[in-house]
Amino acid sequence: MVDSPEVDPAAVQYDVIIIGAGPAGLSAAVYTSRGGLRTLILERRMAGGQVAMTEMIENYPGFPEGVNGFELMELMKQQALKFGAELREIQEVESVAVDTLPGVKRVIASDGTYYGRAVIVATGVDPQSLNCAGEDTFMGRGVSFCATCDGAFFRDKTVAVIGGATRPWRRRSTSPGSRKKCTWCIAATSCGRIGLSRSARA
Ligand SMILES: Cc1cc2nc3c(=O)[nH]c(=O)nc-3n(C[C@H](O)[C@H](O)[C@H](O)COP(=O)(O)OP(=O)(O)OC[C@H]3O[C@@H](n4cnc5c(N)ncnc54)[C@H](O)[C@@H]3O)c2cc1C
Repeated sequence: MVDSPEVDPAAVQYDVIIIGAGPAGLSAAVYTSRGGLRTLILERRMAGGQVAMTEMIENYPGFPEGVNGFELMELMKQQALKFGAELREIQEVESVAVDTLPGVKRVIASDGTYYGRAVIVATGVDPQSLNCAGEDTFMGRGVSFCATCDGAFFRDKTVAVIGGATRPWRRRSTSPGSRKKCTWCIAATSCGRIGLSRSARA
């Protein structure tokens, strides 16, 4: 939140400002723009969110053969734009003020200030990475952050699960028999400090 100076109501350009153009933000934009609301989407990178970094999505309804994550997100983007949503990429939102005027929110982004009647925050999460060699290169192509999403890709393969909590280990049960061998590592801040704690046949 930031302090709010006087605002000319004429400066209120949008009914809805959506922060984040991942699947959540773009889905929201389809609904708001199709419903006739003036919609702005602000995205700090290129539209698509985490899914756009994913080689193959197999659990999205309507794509029995699976779909490339980037292509899926392009379709979602086109759908939102088709109904009139405006998208501004490379626009990192730095702050939101909700007390600008009654019923008006001020959104300050890296390249501009925008006023809207409602703000939807769809900024997702950043998966915790290990910052080790090859992690970025193979993200979505062998390196996964979601056992429920990607477990089936590794059926009958040897996998390593990195995580200090017991959750990733328990997720093993989401795809029974899907891994030949599962090695469990305790999380650390870098690959060099990972301590192998347990190894088991799945
Ligand atoms: C490698 C990988 C593979 C995956 N595979 C699958 C799968 O097969 N099936 C499945 O169901 N799920 C999968 N997931 C999970 C899925 O990608 C996420 O659940 C989904 O992307 C969440 O959508 P979201 O819109 O909430 O957030 P995100 O996709 O994280 O989108 C949030 C967006 O907000 C933007 N943003 C954040 N902060 C700001 C800011 N301050 N200003 C402007 N923009 C901002 C981000 O840049 C991002 O584009 C995978 C994830 C990863 C990383």
